[in-house]
Amino acid sequence: MSLPKVVERIEKACRRAGRDPGAVRLVAVTKEHTVAEIQEQVLRYGPFPLGESRIQEALPKMEALKAEWHFIGPLQRNKAKFAVRFDLIHSIDSVRLAEAVARKARENGRVQRVLLELNLGREPQKHGFLEEELPAALELIRGLEGLRVEGLMTVAPYTQDPETVRPIFARLSRLADLYGLPERSMGMSGDFEVAVEEGATLVRVGRAVFEPDA
Ligand SMILES: *Cc1c(COP(=O)(O)O)cnc(C)c1O
Repeated sequence: MSLPKVVERIEKACRRAGRDPGAVRLVAVTKEHTVAEIQEQVLRYGPFPLGESRIQEALPKMEALKAEWHFIGPLQRNKAKFAVRFDLIHSIDSVRLAEAVARKARENGRVQRVLLELNLGREPQKHGFLEEELPAALELIRGLEGLRVEGLMTVAPYTQDPETVRPIFARLSRLADLYGLPERSMGMSGDFEVAVEEGATLVRVGRAVFEPDA
């Protein structure tokens, strides 16, 4: 596809679901793409937030490009000092990680915006809290000075047919409602339209933005 095509499909999914297209933001996932590609295929269309999943790969791009940067990948506690350079961290997956990020944010005199990642598909290889761990984790993390929990994030199980993961997205939306959290980060190249229909406020799309055939 291309970025404009992805935006058009998000808008169509909003119309189908009776949602305001202004309530969904496209996070262009720029991992494995150069600064020149990001300028040419994303930023020429507007100031879209950019998502990266590896700290080492992200840092030089953040130096080179002024943008709203989101961290979306697995984060190690010893990288917390770099993670607090991002505008939003989608992937807080343990209380200890939240504590490490909160500490660094306080040292820098700022409040770090974060989402908690949920492993709703209960896949052993995936990161994130299990659903039953969420209430206690949320209570602890919401009590940390230096962090603001704005929502939930999930990476749905891989599938050829996005309809099979619709219940996962519906579940994330329901949990976000239950806990009064506004942001729902869900949906990737293969399933972002279903995620939008189920209430995504942030979709993280890489291949469909950068690859014509995706
Ligand atoms: C790579 C990645 C994406 C984007 O995946 P695509 O299939 O390229 O759209 C979204 N979320 C996370 C956490 C990722 O690592």
